[in-house]
Amino acid sequence: MPTSTLHAHSRVALFFGAAAALALCLWQAATFKNLPPLASTSVPVSLPSTPLPTPIPPAPTPPPIPAPTAPTLPPPDIVIDPGHGGTDPGRLGKDGQHEKKWALAVGQALATQLRASGWKVSLTRDADTTVSLLDRSTFANQRPRLLLVSIHFNSGESGASGLETYFSWPRQPELMAKLHAAAGLSAGAPLPPDDSAALAASIQQAACAATGSRNRGTHNRPNLSVTSRTLAPAVLVECGFLTHPDEADNIRSSSWRTKLVQGLASGITSWLTTSGKSPSSSPPSPDNISGP
Ligand SMILES: [Zn+2]
Repeated sequence: MPTSTLHAHSRVALFFGAAAALALCLWQAATFKNLPPLASTSVPVSLPSTPLPTPIPPAPTPPPIPAPTAPTLPPPDIVIDPGHGGTDPGRLGKDGQHEKKWALAVGQALATQLRASGWKVSLTRDADTTVSLLDRSTFANQRPRLLLVSIHFNSGESGASGLETYFSWPRQPELMAKLHAAAGLSAGAPLPPDDSAALAASIQQAACAATGSRNRGTHNRPNLSVTSRTLAPAVLVECGFLTHPDEADNIRSSSWRTKLVQGLASGITSWLTTSGKSPSSSPPSPDNISGP
């Protein structure tokens, strides 16, 4: 091969060799430029730590469930129901006073007398307020009661006089099912005799004895509102005639009303004793309910 040709080939080879070296350098520079910097060996490498599983806290202990307890009811009491009141004046007396005034006076005095003997007593009204007939029996039926006594005064012919007591048997149909249930009987089964008749007889006898009033007896009036809609033994006492001259004077007399109250209380407590009730089963309480 001629030298010039050799030199030409050498120059070409040198040229391509230099070009290849330059391309390699450029490629390396471009490649390393995109690499992340090497970590310095002087800096400790912290390996990613695997998080420890978080311990599951024990389930909280649920609060103890209180054992179901029967609702606590106050002990049964006596309900005194002074008739009329408020916008319902009742009968008009010869002296221009209305029945509602005397019914409230006697009802309150009777409640005081019974409480003094240790009985718990509630009043359907304790002031000159209007209370519907239905509200009176609804109040009495809110919980078990020993009995209900409604206090009224009569009117009639001027010669009519005396004291009489009413009760209702059977009760209103909607109450008979409740009475059967309370007695543990199925509907239609004969109920034991109603205690209201015996309560009426006891009050009638004692009140007439205490006041010397004419005894007009006891009467069953199944449709009388308060007594027919009350679950407990219930009576209505017509304590005398506001239209009778002598009885009207008696009713205005506080000493006669005291005798009447003593007689009513005696008849009530006598029946309660016969029925096996005592004040110890109905402790007196300062928070006697007045309502409804
Ligand atoms: Zn009346």
